[in-house]
Amino acid sequence: MNIILLGPPGAGKGTQARFLEEKYGMLQLATGDMLRAAIRRAEPIGVEAKKIMDQGKLVPDQLMIKMIEVSIEHPACTRGFILDGFPRTVPQAEALDVMLASRHKKLDAVIELSVDEATLIERISGRFICAKCGAGYHDKFMPTKVPGVCDECGNKEFIRRPDDNAEVLKTRLKAFNEQTAPILPYYKGKNLLHIVDGMASMKEVQEKIESILEMAKKS
Ligand code: AMP
Repeated sequence: MNIILLGPPGAGKGTQARFLEEKYGMLQLATGDMLRAAIRRAEPIGVEAKKIMDQGKLVPDQLMIKMIEVSIEHPACTRGFILDGFPRTVPQAEALDVMLASRHKKLDAVIELSVDEATLIERISGRFICAKCGAGYHDKFMPTKVPGVCDECGNKEFIRRPDDNAEVLKTRLKAFNEQTAPILPYYKGKNLLHIVDGMASMKEVQEKIESILEMAKKS
């Protein structure tokens, strides 16, 4: 199955995508992660994207479309993919349709995780990851069991995303409301859109998504 997880920053897309990867063997394609990897490797695409990402704005469509077009060809996509962070504009959504149709692939579901803005700010401003294994934590909601030590790998270094701060977050939320939210009616019109309450517990959100995927499998 091929699905899109949609929602503002901090809605829980990454967390749910990792769960779906494990459960269904689909591949998570997270454009934000791909860009951050390109920055770490000092690739030209990373250099171009970094300035834009640091401001919380969107990277140009053509660059992102190319990135996804290469990614969906990955052999690990045979059991399907989970798009996390793409599409973020209507032109990206339209380009995705064209690239899938030309490969005789289709989307099975588009799942929007809806979360109110005050919660998003609280979630984002406290999050950090292990610098070694990438395990995700939150100062308030999910601290490490032993302060300063990763639960998963024992590493003692952590990273906070430079764009996870209150100032940049304002621009990221504006980008979501103005450029990404218009995608929702696009998928509603195609009968693919499912809205899930992203304020519910992680487990409840998982269960809701599972039931949507079970339904989509049958149709
Ligand atoms: P994320 O990790 O999904 O929050 O993405 C981090 C940043 O990467 C965003 O704020 C954008 O600057 C950029 N980005 C990621 N995916 C896209 C996309 N599909 N279109 C444009 N910019 C993107």
